[in-house]
Amino acid sequence: MSIERRSFLAACAAPLAVSRVRAQGSGALYRSLLHAIDRIALVDTHEHLIAEKDRLNAPRDPFLLVSHYLINDLVSAGLPGADAARLNDAGIPLETRFALFEPWWRVARFTGYAEAFRIALRDLYGVEEVSLRGFENVQEQMLKLRTGFYKLVLRDRANIAYSVLDDYWNGEPVRPDPDLFVLARKFDWFVAPRSRRDLTRMEEVTGIAVTTLEGLKRALEKRIEQNLAVGMVTIKSTIAYQRSLEFIPASEADAARAFQVLAAREDPPPSGPREAVDRPLRALEDHMFHHLLDLAAQHRLPVQVHTGIQAGNANHLPNSRPSLLTQTIRMHPAVPFDLFHVGYPWTGEVIALAKMFPQVHADFCWAWVLSPAHARRALAEMLDAVPFNKIMGFGGDYRYVELTYGHARMARVNIARVLGEMVEAHILLEADALEIAEAILAKNPARLFPKRG
Ligand SMILES: [Zn+2]
Repeated sequence: MSIERRSFLAACAAPLAVSRVRAQGSGALYRSLLHAIDRIALVDTHEHLIAEKDRLNAPRDPFLLVSHYLINDLVSAGLPGADAARLNDAGIPLETRFALFEPWWRVARFTGYAEAFRIALRDLYGVEEVSLRGFENVQEQMLKLRTGFYKLVLRDRANIAYSVLDDYWNGEPVRPDPDLFVLARKFDWFVAPRSRRDLTRMEEVTGIAVTTLEGLKRALEKRIEQNLAVGMVTIKSTIAYQRSLEFIPASEADAARAFQVLAAREDPPPSGPREAVDRPLRALEDHMFHHLLDLAAQHRLPVQVHTGIQAGNANHLPNSRPSLLTQTIRMHPAVPFDLFHVGYPWTGEVIALAKMFPQVHADFCWAWVLSPAHARRALAEMLDAVPFNKIMGFGGDYRYVELTYGHARMARVNIARVLGEMVEAHILLEADALEIAEAILAKNPARLFPKRG
């Protein structure tokens, strides 16, 4: 059977059989390091994977794999918004959509997002070429996917022991498959509620009246307890998508005044670019973020914070600067912080924060696809400056397991390159390189985000 016609599940039945990385380093040392790194069962710090049953109910459509992150590079290249929406419409023939996709793919095909996509197609579907014929082949194989394919891809092919799964939509907390996942949950909507409507929703999910600042705090505490009951191991914040990461300590009285303004607001204000910098209720938000961190300390929960570039195509970059967190980190020495995405493009700031503060960790989730070259430089610089027990080496940050697989391969390959170069420069012995790889890919994240039971 030719590799192109090999079915997805047949490929899965022979783990790693077709998983051959391109020659990114040619020496025996690199190959030996990569071989050893391939055998490390990763602990993945961050995923957005949709439930397997939801995936199996979604259209069996190769453009699903374009829709997460890669689409943003196509838009960046010039793909019009209306065409981007058409790519995601599985009702439109594959041929029509491929014709819309192809010119933008040509110019985006060397980015990290594109590489994760190509690796997924090549290793999991045996499709070497991004072409209409290749997409048709992928679609045929997607039609055969059955329950259990998450385990095949994540465990058997990507060699991921387990992942920290993010909640996306603030829905009811549901315990995910405990074999594959532990849970991160977000509470940003308690920190920065936008109108009375949000307060009503909090009352519905917690059963606590939210008519005062005190009520808001009690509802947040209850919500944290509800999430602990379904296995939350870390709090996550993506508030840098909405506002600045600088949380200026605000008094109870100022926060309570802002709460009353909020409670009188029936509807949220119209969204727009001004919202990123114009925060009339900032005293409430700042106060509540510090309260959230106090609760994290009480429950001994680490806090994952999005820092650096936001996903999508038109966000307010300066809000996400890691050093904006400095005062907050100083005020909460008992809270372990996990700074996401190594703060790209401000990786130096994350390195400096991890170097200064014992409770700050630097997390490479999303980083190996954001820019593989930048992530390699970041790791090399970090190992020069930061004790390696502070580094979290991989988080896939994807909605679809195939892309998590592609990203995990890129992480292993690039980590092998960085460590190999350090061995060649006589900074490390090969045994040291393996100790570091084992720590950053498995031991450190397992310590910060333990899987219990
Ligand atoms: Zn994410």
